[in-house]
Amino acid sequence: MKKQIQRGKRPELMWGLGLSDQLKKQVEMGIGPGFYVRNFPAGSFPWTKELGQGEQPSAAWIPLSVWDEMPEYRKEEYRNQDSTQRILIQDQGEQDLEMDQVLSEGFLTVVRTPLTRPKVQDAVFRAKEVTSMYSDIYRMTEEIMLERELLSRKTDQLMFLNKILASATESLEASTILMNAKETLGLVLPIKMLHAAFWTPQPESEVADVEIFLNGNMPPETESMWIEHLMASAADLGSGPVNGFQIVHADPAHRPEFSMKPEDGRVVTMPLSAGKDTFGCLTLLCERNYRLGKDQVETFRSAVTHLGLALRNALVYKEVKLRADRDALTRIYNRHSFDERLVYEIKRRRRYNHDLSLLMVDLDHFKLVNDTYGHKAGDMVLQKVGEILTETFRGTDLAARYGGEEFVVLLPHTTERDAWNLAERVREKIQACEFHFDGHDFAVTASIGVASVEAGALTKDDELLIKADKALYEAKHNGRNMVVISKPKVGVQAAIQ
Ligand code: GH3
Ligand code: MG
Ligand code: MG
Repeated sequence: MKKQIQRGKRPELMWGLGLSDQLKKQVEMGIGPGFYVRNFPAGSFPWTKELGQGEQPSAAWIPLSVWDEMPEYRKEEYRNQDSTQRILIQDQGEQDLEMDQVLSEGFLTVVRTPLTRPKVQDAVFRAKEVTSMYSDIYRMTEEIMLERELLSRKTDQLMFLNKILASATESLEASTILMNAKETLGLVLPIKMLHAAFWTPQPESEVADVEIFLNGNMPPETESMWIEHLMASAADLGSGPVNGFQIVHADPAHRPEFSMKPEDGRVVTMPLSAGKDTFGCLTLLCERNYRLGKDQVETFRSAVTHLGLALRNALVYKEVKLRADRDALTRIYNRHSFDERLVYEIKRRRRYNHDLSLLMVDLDHFKLVNDTYGHKAGDMVLQKVGEILTETFRGTDLAARYGGEEFVVLLPHTTERDAWNLAERVREKIQACEFHFDGHDFAVTASIGVASVEAGALTKDDELLIKADKALYEAKHNGRNMVVISKPKVGVQAAIQ
């Protein structure tokens, strides 16, 4: 049977290593016009690395005498590559080689001179067959490797989800769950900070109280940025208008990375849902240029879904209805916090007999600000007053928004005189503020009522508040923009009665 050599349109390349002119001619005659032989003289044999760079000979012809002369390291190089089959040419006079020896030297076959056409064609045919078999094996190996890679990725994903589930159900404390989640999610995505917000919509008032979990303690300015972001996310994701909030620092330690602001990376906010209800959101600060692959995004999403369910359980378990202690607009404490703290401070004062003072601050003609410049301008003023109160008083004092444009400040261990001084400072600061809104410049003033109980004086529970309110009324009556101290001193009448 005559063997056919398949011929492409372009002549196919073959190498000759150190072929004599005669041998080269014989090979060329044998293989016919579909091929050409590039012969390298001894001393300039090609390195096998050239094979990958465009040279793709289907076979290399090497006379035994040339092979014998070749240094061992060059032989080794040819032996170890299998995309080009090597054909050994043995001279007529040379002793027969054992086939074992030929194969172990990495040759496909051996052909004895003279190289007749059938001999050459047979060798080339076999070379091509083996080459195509090799390429099949390569392709199959590549496919297997790819399958393996996919499988190992799936395994990684499953292990990751398992880890998330395990760490999320380890605790019923939302803070612990969140900090565990930060660590586990961090395996897929480098996370610098993780914050969260949870809310319980209140149908009757249609405003929500929000519980904010911040990653850790941070500078006030940074904290304020994150709160802003989380409250906006809560409003976006369906909490309804935010009435007030409460802050929990998930990690009580002080760490330098907690001072990172939203602009220090890429902020990713994801809703936390159980069924159709979205009850919270997770906000991550990530590396800016880090991108997740498509399947990683899927994995991440399912991780967050699992996490949502675990957090939901934790919140239900806690069974405490969220109770905000801060006012959403001014960010200072709300009336509820003040009421609680007042009861506590009055009790403490009875026990330890120290001074206790209270300021009641009311903005003057505030309605006029709203009417003239709009409600937004009014809100801006209230925010500024919140800031002034925060910066004026120390940590043991409590400044709160009592309602509307009315604020209260509770000052434990503060005498009437000191309270008056502080009130005067606040009044001056408010008066000195220049407001700019929508092209208008304006200023506001405040009236302040001060009431104090001296150490040792007897009081009724609500007396301090009533007296401060009366003093405030007097300040309004006497022309506003002033501080008035309650007269007679709180407790004096009670002592007389
Ligand atoms: P006075 O000097 O007697 O205290 O006069 P006033 O106008 O400040 O007092 P009034 O009690 O008549 O009006 C209070 C105004 O405060 C009316 C209300 O619209 C406004 N106000 C209450 N809460 C808010 C708020 O959250 N934002 C804004 N922009 N205005 C508010
Ligand atoms: Mg007012
Ligand atoms: Mg008022």
